[in-house]
Amino acid sequence: MTTSHVPGITLNDGRTIPQFGFGVFQIEPKDTVKATLAAFEAGYRHIDTAEMYGNEKEVGEAVRQSGLPRDEVWVTSKLNNNAHRPDDARRFFDRTLSELGLDYVDLFLIHWPLPTRYDGDFVSTWKTLEEFQHDGRAKSIGVSNFQTNHLNRLRDEADITPAVNQVEVHPYLAQNELRRYCVEHQIAVEAWSPIAQGKVLDDPTIIEIAQRVGKSPAQVVLRWHIERGDIVFPKSVNPERITENIDIFDFELSGEDVQAITGLDRHERTGPDPDTFDMIPD
Ligand code: NDP
Repeated sequence: MTTSHVPGITLNDGRTIPQFGFGVFQIEPKDTVKATLAAFEAGYRHIDTAEMYGNEKEVGEAVRQSGLPRDEVWVTSKLNNNAHRPDDARRFFDRTLSELGLDYVDLFLIHWPLPTRYDGDFVSTWKTLEEFQHDGRAKSIGVSNFQTNHLNRLRDEADITPAVNQVEVHPYLAQNELRRYCVEHQIAVEAWSPIAQGKVLDDPTIIEIAQRVGKSPAQVVLRWHIERGDIVFPKSVNPERITENIDIFDFELSGEDVQAITGLDRHERTGPDPDTFDMIPD
């Protein structure tokens, strides 16, 4: 399932996810239908939402208003941090489907591992997601913000290998080691905050490459993710940027340019550290 110019990535469960999509974190519910429809209009066919974002309902509404066949749109959502206990996970997953107004999601993720909560037990949460995949309501399942030690635990204690690991990746946090682990274990990497919420766009190396190849800094960074093989879904509420961000399939970066951008790595997070993040909403 891909639009003509967006490549697909084959997951370890055999399904194909569009490598490029639209992220809706921090889009107000009142703006979500309009922004998501603008994304569909620009050719996006993959939406990344979460219960935590408070806009699943509006994402579902946009899918319906788009008139696109359900099997031409990839919808991802995520389990919130207050629902890791299996019974809560089941209840919250029912609610996610009902908010979206969909019979299934294409991909469902544990949003954060929360290793300091729930007695460190994210394995029983994962086994609950395995149920959702078995009953067909989550076509693919994966995790988000998992470090190698968390992934190793799932490898030892669970049946299904996550199809994806969605983690913070951008030029200032290249995540070389974690990405290597994921490639080795056939876990696709989804890069969240792919342009570091704008923080990498003033970088002189990125600006120099952008001027040389005749693209914007955001396009160069998004193309860097594509060339590395990661899945990306930049967020924007601005229709021009929505169009700009997907317009990255008519050029390539040289190997040297990819390396120069990877070389900007400063191990600098914009978001929380998954080993210590323990936020549970009320
Ligand atoms: P992004 O790296 O996508 O950056 C979004 C910011 O950059 C917004 O402020 C946007 O402003 C601006 N922007 C977008 N396009 C351009 C452009 N072409 N030029 C200049 N500025 C631009 O950050 P996000 O944190 O939103 O990450 C993307 C997605 O990743 C999220 O929406 C969500 O789906 C996912 N995510 C997942 C997390 C997880 O824990 N699993 C955590 C965080 C994000 P404007 O809207 O005004 O254009």
